[in-house]
Amino acid sequence: MGIWRREIATFLVIFLVICVIGLFTGLFFPLLLALTLFSFFQQLYQIDRFEKWLRIGGQMNYPNTTGVWKEIYYHVYRIRKNNKRRKKKLSKMVGQFRQYTEALPDAAVVLNAADEIEWTNKAAHDVLGLKHSDKGQRILNLIRFPEFIAYLTSQQYDTPVIFPSPMNNEITLAARVINYGVGLRLLLAQDVTQLKQMERMRKDFVANVSHELRTPLTVMKGYIETLQDVDDGTSLLLTNSLNNMQGQTDRMQYLVDDLLLLAHLETEIKKHKVIDIPALLIQICQETEEILGENRVLLTLDSDAKLVGEEHELRSAFTNLLGNALKYSPEDTYVKIHWHQIENALLLDVIDQGEGISQTDISRITERFYRVETKRDKKISGTGLGLAIVKHVLIRHDAQLVIRSELGKGSCFQCAFPLNRLSVNI
Ligand code: ADP
Repeated sequence: MGIWRREIATFLVIFLVICVIGLFTGLFFPLLLALTLFSFFQQLYQIDRFEKWLRIGGQMNYPNTTGVWKEIYYHVYRIRKNNKRRKKKLSKMVGQFRQYTEALPDAAVVLNAADEIEWTNKAAHDVLGLKHSDKGQRILNLIRFPEFIAYLTSQQYDTPVIFPSPMNNEITLAARVINYGVGLRLLLAQDVTQLKQMERMRKDFVANVSHELRTPLTVMKGYIETLQDVDDGTSLLLTNSLNNMQGQTDRMQYLVDDLLLLAHLETEIKKHKVIDIPALLIQICQETEEILGENRVLLTLDSDAKLVGEEHELRSAFTNLLGNALKYSPEDTYVKIHWHQIENALLLDVIDQGEGISQTDISRITERFYRVETKRDKKISGTGLGLAIVKHVLIRHDAQLVIRSELGKGSCFQCAFPLNRLSVNI
């Protein structure tokens, strides 16, 4: 502000001098014109100097000048200096970030909106086989695993995708994509070989133990039955003990069978054929009613659709759902089974008027061994594995299990199969 005041004061003094000289000489207007032209060319000269100074980099040694122009030179020089310092700091940070990401054991790849590689770290070269020269290439042309292609093009990045390393097929990778910035994505691939090996060992262990338990269990059951045959009922203690033993071995048998089925679902390769679902449902309902000796099932078949899948697995899933609906609802109520088609899915509804399930339990009942703790009049036996089996079977058939329930009113377990499972589509 001080500078401006000084500039204006100087101008006013010159103007006054011109006025006085003009008054005595009668040359006021020519003198005024001369002053205006002088000021105009002086400013043009300053602008020209300023532009030249900027062009050569706006260094510290700016032209010798005074007044407002000196201030302008000084401020522009300071702004440029600060920018330079900030740029230096930023490039140092970028350098450090690059060093960190280079040291990362996980492969990191930055992709743009067109799936082209923008940047890769060292691990990406080692496990994904991507080179620096691949910058600008579409990643889908370089990593050709169908699982990876489907994952990247799906735009659904909630769960990671598993695929073998293109450099060594003994290495298993879990990759996930994180969206950031405008159209940019970070692909992180982690070596999960050990984790997968441990998971395989766990599955094998459960399957082997369950398999090995089968024979001693059958022998024990045989002995218990023999003892029950020879029991003449004179000792109540003996009769009760034998009945308890039989109950417990039955329970163990169910557990072993369910564990074996789960192990099979996790490891077996899918073998699909066309399954007549209406016929399968009729059979399951008849068999269940025969075993239980009750007529409580109302079957409605609104579609004759056949599905492509594994009959043995679907039979097991549907039987579990029907068994549960009957088990967890009063004996004087009906269980409805409804097979129908909607616009985008084939649905099997298993509806009961039973005790219902709370929202917190709904989120957990498909976990292995999870059983809802309720105060019932009679204890209902079960393994806690039935719904885990249902969930696995449905996943293997690209289907979903939807559970709707209201405490005290009943539940609906819905299996939703995608239309591409219709036998006509295969
Ligand atoms: P379980 O062998 O115990 O029946 P499941 O995995 O089939 O094992 O079911 C887990 C739990 O979910 C059951 O213990 C039960 O509490 C609850 N549940 C399953 N189906 C129903 C149903 N139709 N109505 C109410 N509760 C159910």
